[in-house]
Amino acid sequence: MKPKILITDKLHPAAIEVAKGFAEVQEFYGHSPEEVLSKIPGYDALIVRSGTKATREVIEASDLKIIGRAGVGLDNVDLDAAKEKGIEVVNSPEASTIAVTELVMGALLTLLRNIHHADRSMREGKWERSRFTGNELYGKTLGIVGFGRIGKEVGERARAFGMNILAYDPNITAEDAREFNAECAELDDLLKRADIVTLHIPLVEGTRNLIDEGKIDLMKDSAVIVNISRGGVVNEKALHDALKDGKLGGAVLDVFENEPPKGSPLMNLENVVLMPHLGASTDEAQINAGTVVVEKIRNFFREK
Ligand code: NAD
Repeated sequence: MKPKILITDKLHPAAIEVAKGFAEVQEFYGHSPEEVLSKIPGYDALIVRSGTKATREVIEASDLKIIGRAGVGLDNVDLDAAKEKGIEVVNSPEASTIAVTELVMGALLTLLRNIHHADRSMREGKWERSRFTGNELYGKTLGIVGFGRIGKEVGERARAFGMNILAYDPNITAEDAREFNAECAELDDLLKRADIVTLHIPLVEGTRNLIDEGKIDLMKDSAVIVNISRGGVVNEKALHDALKDGKLGGAVLDVFENEPPKGSPLMNLENVVLMPHLGASTDEAQINAGTVVVEKIRNFFREK
C-alpha cells in the first residue's frame, strides 16, 4: 500500500510530482491549526515548510511515521513529542548550499568592485570611472569561519579566484582542511591573517556575538566581513563602529540581529552591501528544499 502524505505548506510542483510517484498525496494549504489537527489521523507522513506548526497536540493525534520540514530550521516541529512517538524527522538544510555560496561570491565582488554604487551613479546620469576603483580577490586570504557545507563550497569557489584559504571550525582537522585546499587555523590567528572573513556558522549560545569588538580589533585594517549565516553571530554595534571609524574596509550582510533591521545605523554606511535575507532565494534552492525532503521520505518508506 502506498504511504499517505499530508502537505500543509506549499511545495514546489516538482517536489509534489516526486511525492505522487510513490505516495498518496493530499495538499492541504491555508488551514487553521485546528483543521490540521482534525485532518492528521490516518496519514503516514506530514510535510511542512515554516508555515505549519507540528505541535505536540498534532503529533500525538497522528499516526505519523515521519515528518519532513522542507528547508533549514526545525523550530516549528516539536522534536521531543516526535521522538517520544518514534517518529522520524527530516529536513533539507543542504538545499540552499549553492544558493548561499554563489551569493557570497556575488556580494563580495559587488562590494569590492563598487558595482552597487556604480549602478546607482549611472542611473543618476553620471559616468564616474575613477570614483569606483576597487580591489581584486586574486592573491588575497579568505578566512572561513565554519567549514561545513557552505564554508567548503565557498572555499572551493574562492580557490578558483586564486585566493588563499584559512578555515576555522572546531569540528575539522588539519587533514580535513587540506583535502579542501585550505589551511586549518585557530580563530584569532585566522582573524589576524585574513583580508576577508566570511562566516558560515549556526547561531547557538557559543556563537552569539562571536565576532565582537575584541575580535574585530584583531583583524587587519581595512579587512572585510561577510555574514550570510545568521544575525547575531557578529555584534552589529561593534561592526558598525569599526566600519564607521575605517578600521574595517567593508561588510556584506544578509542577516541581522533583528529582521528587518529597522532604523539600524548600518543602513547609513556606504561601505556595506545589504540584502534582505536572500541567501536561499533562488528558484533552484526552492525546488531543492521540497524535492530533497520528499526524496528522504521516499527512501524512508523504501527502507521500511
Ligand atoms: P553546516 O552545519 O554544514 O556547517 C556549519 C559549521 O559550523 C559546522 O561544520 C560546525 O562544526 C561549524 N561550527 C559550529 N560552531 C562553530 C564555531 N563556534 N566556530 C566555527 N565553526 C563552528 O551548516 P551550513 O549548511 O554550512 O550553513 C551555515 C550557516 O548558514 C547556518 O547558520 C545556516 O543557518 C546559514 N544559512 C543561511 C542562509 C541565508 O539565507 N542567509 C541560508 C542557508 C543557510
